[in-house]
Order: sequence, then structure tokens, then C-alpha cells
Amino acid sequence: MNGSILLIPSIRRKGGLGHLVRMMRLALSWKGQASIFLEPGNPVHWNEAEVRSFFPNFPWDRFLERSPDSRTWDWVIFDRQSTSLEEYGRLHFGVPTLGLDEGGEARLVCSFLVDTFPRIEKDVEPNRAEPRFAPMIDPSALDTPSSDASLHTDTSRRIRPFLLAFGGEDPYRLSELAFDGLVTSGVSPEDIDVLLGPARTHPFKKYCGRILTGGWDARNHFSQYQWVVTSFGLTPYEAILEGSTPLLVNPTQYHERLSKRAGFFSLGVRRVSRRRVRFALAHPETVLPSWVQGGQLSLEKGSSFGEFLSSIKADIPPQCPLCEGRDHRVIYRFHDRSFFQCRGCGTEYRMYFGGHKKEYTSEYFFEEYRQQYGKTYVEDFSQIKEQGKKRLSFLRRCLSNQSSFDLKGKTLLDVGCAFGPFLDAAREEGMIPFGIDLSAVAIRYVQETLGVPATVADIETFDPSVSFGVHSFDVISLWYVIEHLPWAGLVLEKIRDMLGRGGWLIFSTPNGKGISSLRSHKSFREQSPIDHVTIWNVTQAKNVLRKSGFRVFAVRTPSHHPERFPSLVRFLMGERGCRAMETIFHLGDTFEVYAQKIDHDSRSGASSGPRH
Ligand SMILES: [Zn+2]
Repeated sequence: MNGSILLIPSIRRKGGLGHLVRMMRLALSWKGQASIFLEPGNPVHWNEAEVRSFFPNFPWDRFLERSPDSRTWDWVIFDRQSTSLEEYGRLHFGVPTLGLDEGGEARLVCSFLVDTFPRIEKDVEPNRAEPRFAPMIDPSALDTPSSDASLHTDTSRRIRPFLLAFGGEDPYRLSELAFDGLVTSGVSPEDIDVLLGPARTHPFKKYCGRILTGGWDARNHFSQYQWVVTSFGLTPYEAILEGSTPLLVNPTQYHERLSKRAGFFSLGVRRVSRRRVRFALAHPETVLPSWVQGGQLSLEKGSSFGEFLSSIKADIPPQCPLCEGRDHRVIYRFHDRSFFQCRGCGTEYRMYFGGHKKEYTSEYFFEEYRQQYGKTYVEDFSQIKEQGKKRLSFLRRCLSNQSSFDLKGKTLLDVGCAFGPFLDAAREEGMIPFGIDLSAVAIRYVQETLGVPATVADIETFDPSVSFGVHSFDVISLWYVIEHLPWAGLVLEKIRDMLGRGGWLIFSTPNGKGISSLRSHKSFREQSPIDHVTIWNVTQAKNVLRKSGFRVFAVRTPSHHPERFPSLVRFLMGERGCRAMETIFHLGDTFEVYAQKIDHDSRSGASSGPRH
């Protein structure tokens, strides 16, 4: 996918121009439509005229976007160091967001996070930590491969020894400081060239080698130098890509710690250690980060950020599948998924970035099912049917105090009926069953072998009067289906509309607060199948169903696994005790919900008005 991307770089004064520069590079190399947004109206930011004056050769008119809310974007990329929730709310434009080295509150809410720099804070893990993306250079723009360490120590191709390059702005005048430090360490002033960035306001007055002025492509100078003296940021990464060796003089202890973590060699914080200069000059091969030899920064074909970005695609919009709220906080980030919790209704959901959509074909029921459960779905039919009978007898017990309701003669729609074991069980109870499923193979089996009315349909677009000539049902069931639905909230509304007065919604789903999740919260989510969009728990289910016009009548724990409890608990409570705990505290790894439709008039706290 090479669609439309909106790039929002940091343009904070004294914040350096590196973030802006790499977004300019991304814009140039992006194969789709890339636009750069310089948010106006903030006095601590550079304004558009200033930014343009720093880089007059860049084709701004092709890339500047002034009204980003008038277009739709596939991604919004934040490369702005630190973004508050308030700023995020203003700048996400309702589409998936990618935070690059995001260090602010937006770290908790961005759809996807890529860290190219190391982080000191141990807070939210990124989806990817990729130092190779730091300078955001398209590999095709490089003359030389970079992973070969001999490039750095072979001085014959270096024309000049030292270049001082302290970014576009150099607000701390580190150029002067580093120059003095090198000279007092014995380096000849003529051997030191100075690169002055476009936002630097004061001239460099010391007697030195050449003075160069750098634009957004200043890194092109680096290949001529053996040493590039700089501070932590994009420049040391660029220097390595261009085959020279960075030496760092940092403005703060914070930058110093980042440098160390990234493996760069530092001469000091706002000072130059003579001892360290002499060491570096005597042992140039040892002052390169160890990962240069490991080839981590090597930019082979397919390793540019742009190509990475075109390979990831969010499968759902960044909003809650149940209540459609956008206020969420991240729970975990994995390579291909981010898990969020909705702050509105408490539902956990994940965004998946792998790009492909699962198809429930015959392979799903035969091969994948066999791999997961050791037998095919059809081979499992009688066992699932027995489970179905238990569910129906539980439903009958729920109804026992409602004499007007008997299962006999009642209509039932099973959503995601697969090969129909529950339909078969319902028919044996005297019910009138109907089934829908996405799989044509499964539906053919239900129609031809079981002789039960069934049709291939997606619940979101299904019309019972067209498919079955039926306008409403007494019972609608979804066994392990609801967690797959990207628009579960709309489906609940639809189910409510399809149920007759006092009708029942019954479903089962994995339990996000069950014993396995309690034992390992993170790995439970990491191992959750990629096509599970939502993770439910009993409290959240009751809350969501109440808002959707249902009352949860009972929650059932369908299977017991005392062996999943910690051994001490098992020892103290015994097997029966563990089973009781599963039932009482809803600790089962799955749970079933038996909920009854509330009459519209008596619905309390339900959302009013249309959702769309
Ligand atoms: Zn929600």
C-alpha cells in the first residue's frame, strides 16, 4: 500500500531540525501521496516562512499541506519528539497514527510506535525498535554500503580529518566548544572543518579549516571526513551510513545516556575530554558502535522506512469496535498488533497491521482446526453438539421462572453456525433453527446433510426476511464469534432489532480476566489469535450489553480447568475448590452470556440516537 500519508514533524525552536529533515526525506522517497503539515499559530514553533528559508531548495509547494482535515489519509506520522494528548486529539484526523520516537503522552494512544533511537524510560514498549530507520535515508540514495566496518578505518578515501556538525541550529554553540576542545587536545585548527546549519543565528569566528553551510542534504558532506563531531540525534547515524566515524559532544546528560545506549563514543557533556580524544584517534576501530559490525544499520533493499510503512496496514479504524469511542490507552504493543482498552466502555481491542484478512474457507475448518484441536470440525461434531444441548438446558433453566417461554416451537438463529452442531441440538429440542456462516462449505453441509435452513451471509449485511422469510427470532446465538467482529457494537444493535419481544442473546467468548490471562496477562494477549478483534470479560460484557439494550441474566463457565491454577492454590483449594472459584469469580478461560432483550421503553442508560 502506497497511499496518502500526512507527516507532522517537530518544528520546535531549539529542538533541532533533524525530525523535519527526515520527514522531508520520507516525503521525497514515498511512492504515494505524502504531505507535510507545519501546524501554524504556535510561537514556540518555527513558522512556515522560516522553515522554507532554512531549506530553500526543497520543493515545498509539492509537499506542504495547509488544511489536513479536508482530506482523508491512510496514515498520520508523528515525528515530533513529544505529543500531548490534547495535541494528539487535534492532529490524528481519525486515521491510524504512527509515532516515531514519540516520547510524550501520545505514546499511549498512537496506533503503532516505532523507536529508532534508544529509550532511557522503561515505559511503553514500541511495536518496533529499528535503529536502521533513524536517518530515514532511502537505500537507493546511498553510494556505498554501510555495514562494512573496514570502510570506517580505511582512511585513504577520506579527504579531510574532522567535520564539526551540530545540526541545523546549534543553540548551545557546541561547534565552538568542540573546536576549542579538539585544538587543546593537539588537533591542528586547519584540520577541522565546520558545517553550519541553516537555523544558526551567529557566525563561526574562529580560525579553522573550511566553513560549510548545510541544507537538508548536509549529510552528503560526511563521506569526505574520517571523523564527524556531533551530538546525539540523526547526525551520528548519518555519519555511519556515509562511512565516517562519529564522535559525540552532548548538550545534556540525557543525550549522553542515549548516546551510550546507542553505542556511540562520547567526548563529554558540554566539554571535550582530551584523554578521550587521544584514545579515539589512537584506536579508531574501537569507537564505532558494536552494531555497525553486526550490520544492524545496513540499508539493503527493502529496508527503508518507506518500504516498511507500505507493508503495514491497519485492519480496523482506530476506534472501539463496541462503542466506536476513540479515547483509548495502549495495553501492549507487539510486532504486528497493538492492544488498547476503550476508556468509554472498558472493552479491550486490538489493531492488527499484518495486512491480510482471514478467510473462513474449508481450510479453516479442516486444516487450521485440526492443527489447533487435533481433529477436524466434522469429527468434533458430536462433542460440540453435546455442548449445545448443555447450553440449551441452561437456557431452559434461565427461563424456568418465565412460564410463558418454552423452547419448543421457538425460532433460533445461530450466527457463525459452521457445520451446524448447535442447530442440530436445537432442532432435537423442538426449536426451529436457522444458520448463517461465511463458509460456503459449512453451509452446504448444514443444508444438504442436516436439512436445516442456512445461508452464506455476513451478520453485518444479513437480512432474515430475504434469506428465510422470517422477520425476527426468539433466540440468537453466537458461539465464539463476537470476538471476531470488527463492528461488534453495530452487530449487537442489529441483533436486538432481529429479536422478538423478550428474546434471548446467548454467546460465548474467551475471557480476558480468566485464569490463563491472570497468570500471564501479556502472553495471553500475545497468543490471542490474530483474528480476535476484541477481548471480553464479564464486567465489561454486562456494561456493554446494558448499553445495547440487554440484561445479562446469567453467566456460565462452560468448562473447568483446575490444572491451570497455580500449584499452591490447587494444593490449598483442591480441584473442587478451583472449579468453584472458576464459577463464582468468573475465572474460566471462556464464558457464556445469557442475556435478555429489554423492552425499548424500559431501556435505561442506553445510547440514544443513531450511531452513524
Ligand atoms: Zn468502547
